[in-house]
Amino acid sequence: MTQKLILVINCGSSSLKFALYTTQLTLLSEGLAESLNSTNAKLKIDFCAEKRSEDFATNDHKSAIKVIISTLQKHFNLDTNLIGIGHRIVHGGDKFKQSTLIDQQTKAEIERCTPLAPLHNPANLLGIKILSEQYPDLSQVAVFDTSFHQTMPPHAFTYAIPYCYYELDSIRRYGFHGTSHRYVSHQASKLLNKKHNEISLVVAHLGNGASVASISNGKSVDTSMGLTPLEGLVMGTRSGDVDPGLYDYLTSKGLSSEDISRMLNKESGLLGISGVSNDMRTLCNQANQGHKRCQLAIDIFCFRLAKYIAAMMVSLQRLDALIFTGGIGENSALVRTQTIKHLTILGFSIDEALNNTLCHNQTIHSTRSRPIFVIPTDEEVMIVQDTLALIPGKF
Ligand code: ADP
Repeated sequence: MTQKLILVINCGSSSLKFALYTTQLTLLSEGLAESLNSTNAKLKIDFCAEKRSEDFATNDHKSAIKVIISTLQKHFNLDTNLIGIGHRIVHGGDKFKQSTLIDQQTKAEIERCTPLAPLHNPANLLGIKILSEQYPDLSQVAVFDTSFHQTMPPHAFTYAIPYCYYELDSIRRYGFHGTSHRYVSHQASKLLNKKHNEISLVVAHLGNGASVASISNGKSVDTSMGLTPLEGLVMGTRSGDVDPGLYDYLTSKGLSSEDISRMLNKESGLLGISGVSNDMRTLCNQANQGHKRCQLAIDIFCFRLAKYIAAMMVSLQRLDALIFTGGIGENSALVRTQTIKHLTILGFSIDEALNNTLCHNQTIHSTRSRPIFVIPTDEEVMIVQDTLALIPGKF
């Protein structure tokens, strides 16, 4: 039996991720091209059923996509079976409130959002362009990191700066990781046996990038990221919140705006504090062996996270569950324990036995606590589902 297929593309400035799914949501193949446009460019493709991967030479986005398509064609007969392509798009501004079919107008709007994400949106558009050349007749869908948070009320998304900056330059909080927060909220509604539009959650998405969101009646009502993904939590290499006065101070010391941007985005967070790594696993191992700054990085990460979880509760009438997700949220019992210790006053406590022997999609709270779940995220599946919902025909 031939299976119809959906391709998910996540085109970054120097990387490209893809995933190939059946319409039944079975992952057939995925891969990552890294260091594109450099001499170190490389591409790895996993074949899931065979549990093996292959490495390929590549150089830029176009050549990586060509290799991906020809390899997938050989294994899965894309030309016959592919029925749609879903693209992860970082910034949809306040134009895109949900996922949408890509046409000329969509592309123009994504282009108009480029000043808000100058590195990401052009790369996303490049991915759309290359795939449109390969498959001119195939429907393509844009799924935005920002769109889930478009339901935030003005008091949550407006910065307290002169209002004309919002009116003239669209400067406001947008929020990101929306596809993950949305996916996890749907999983939570199934686990809690409640309708999605009746669910009230705080979701902590903790990967290399990290954000929390509060979700009321299935809709995002606040989140920790802002105009850019730099605001909010401590992340792998991003500072999260700092005093905006830092900018003046550092420029007075001779740093340029590029220096400051690089420092806050690439040299800060867990990496900046520890001086060792942006990887939480490494930090936990080193802290265990007595490395003080690795321990400090974990302490700051958990404290900031707890502060934000508390802040997110202000937006809710009721809390059905606190959810941990993302690489750190799903796998680090230590981060969960340390974070929840700061939240005892709000009625959270952990069952350590459950927390340490966790199976995913389970609760980890003690009997006297508000509910706490660990739910694995799957942004690609959400993109496949949106693509299936929007492309013509029923599958
Ligand atoms: P991305 O945002 O790049 O998708 P992930 O969601 O994969 O990132 O999360 C990556 C983070 O998850 C890294 O900091 C990694 O160390 C952390 N992580 C993965 N497994 C574990 C684990 N068992 N314990 C602690 N941290 C983990």
